[in-house]
Amino acid sequence: MPPNAAPKPVQVAIIGAGASGLMTAISIAQALESTGQNPKSTNILLLDGSKKIGIKILVAGGGRCNVTHHQVDEHQYATTKPAIVRSTLKRFSASDTINFFANLGVDLKQEPTGKMFPTTDDAHTVLHALLNEAARLGIKILNPWRVESITQTNPGFTIDSPDHHPIHADCIVLATGGKALPKSGSDGQGYKIAKSLGHSITKDILPALVPLIVADSSRWITELSGIACPATLSVVASTGKHIKSFTNDTLITHFGLSGPAPMDISRYLTTAKLTDRKAHLQINWFPDHTFEQADQFLTNLGKAQVSTHLRTHIPERLAAALCQQANIDPTTPGHALPRESRRALAHLLTATTIHIQADRGFTHAEVTAGGVPLEEINRKDFQSRTCPGLYLVGEILDVDGRIGGYNFQWAWSTGHIAGTAIAKSLLNDASNR
Ligand SMILES: Cc1cc2nc3c(=O)[nH]c(=O)nc-3n(C[C@H](O)[C@H](O)[C@H](O)COP(=O)(O)OP(=O)(O)OC[C@H]3O[C@@H](n4cnc5c(N)ncnc54)[C@H](O)[C@@H]3O)c2cc1C
Repeated sequence: MPPNAAPKPVQVAIIGAGASGLMTAISIAQALESTGQNPKSTNILLLDGSKKIGIKILVAGGGRCNVTHHQVDEHQYATTKPAIVRSTLKRFSASDTINFFANLGVDLKQEPTGKMFPTTDDAHTVLHALLNEAARLGIKILNPWRVESITQTNPGFTIDSPDHHPIHADCIVLATGGKALPKSGSDGQGYKIAKSLGHSITKDILPALVPLIVADSSRWITELSGIACPATLSVVASTGKHIKSFTNDTLITHFGLSGPAPMDISRYLTTAKLTDRKAHLQINWFPDHTFEQADQFLTNLGKAQVSTHLRTHIPERLAAALCQQANIDPTTPGHALPRESRRALAHLLTATTIHIQADRGFTHAEVTAGGVPLEEINRKDFQSRTCPGLYLVGEILDVDGRIGGYNFQWAWSTGHIAGTAIAKSLLNDASNR
């Protein structure tokens, strides 16, 4: 324990100074300021275990930070409570995010995919704007200050850390993220804290938006490392039912599959395999074609060589590998293809089965699937239903979005809703005193 004096109690302690924690803190202070109060007269404290604040914001979007998406709705998220996600995203929408950042001096631009980035193409712009605004509003940030446990003291809470004096807070916001990229400080401790305060955690906590490692039986595909092309990836149950599909760029790597489509599909594959060991991944390399259309396409080749025509649709090395898998010489003219070979190739073009051994785990995941169930949270203010005075925001909740800025949007939306609600209750308390 350090020799310095015990810190003063605070009104609000936010655990985690990532996207959702910073947004919560700023939203409380901005809401107080908008009523004419000096936000510096309220004690808002952000505690973060990491030596460096905002690591995830800085690494996001390849260092450019994909702040949000032009069009955000509940369909872009995996959730058991789409109605709650929908209302949350309506109450603080992508346009609200754009305005919020514009007010901090950060203009966002939209890319053709709909993803929104700062016009500077530099994630530092986003982090600096948030930290400058927090400083302007008098929000205190202590780091590294890792929270080990929180105890309800009625009134309020005591926050404990092995390295620091305990801190008393009237209210707590858990913004500790999930388990993705643990070196950023989000290592799952938040789940233990939430549990100790009466919450449950979903049975499975899994890496999502994560690259996939192929099994030995599909190792041939890694020979194509470096190829990137659009494809439709589907999770197919052992019954043959297509559970989920994504069409987007697909990158073949030395270990397996990465890029937007494989990462988007990863959590659906992992989840399906929990209950259906034979669930597998299927790739359609001709995203706009069915098997019948691909078969017709090959039938119509006539004298043209198979490879010449495949090359106009898919990368040459991929075309050669698929021919090899179908035991076809790629120089064969279309009309000389035996029916069975032609159908085997059409099948590979539209439904290559790839066996996945594992995903690359939390170290390489962008987000976490699972967390604190939304039904345990009051949707109006993101306050816990089991522990009054405790709020939960961001990735710690059981919601995960696709690639494209959706996960930050969830962090901004939940942080803003909780923050404005906390400000309101602080104002009510003050007027009742
Ligand atoms: C490589 C990568 C790229 C990404 N790119 C994008 C993107 O471009 N667009 C997008 O929308 N999403 C992206 N994401 C996802 C996005 O970063 C997260 O969903 C989002 O940051 C979650 O915000 P959060 O505040 O809930 O949690 P986090 O950002 O994880 O923040 C949690 C904070 O809590 C702190 N903390 C945790 N436990 C404790 C404790 N016990 N005591 C004290 N502090 C603690 C951590 O140090 C951390 O600072 C990316 C993620 C990764 C890993």
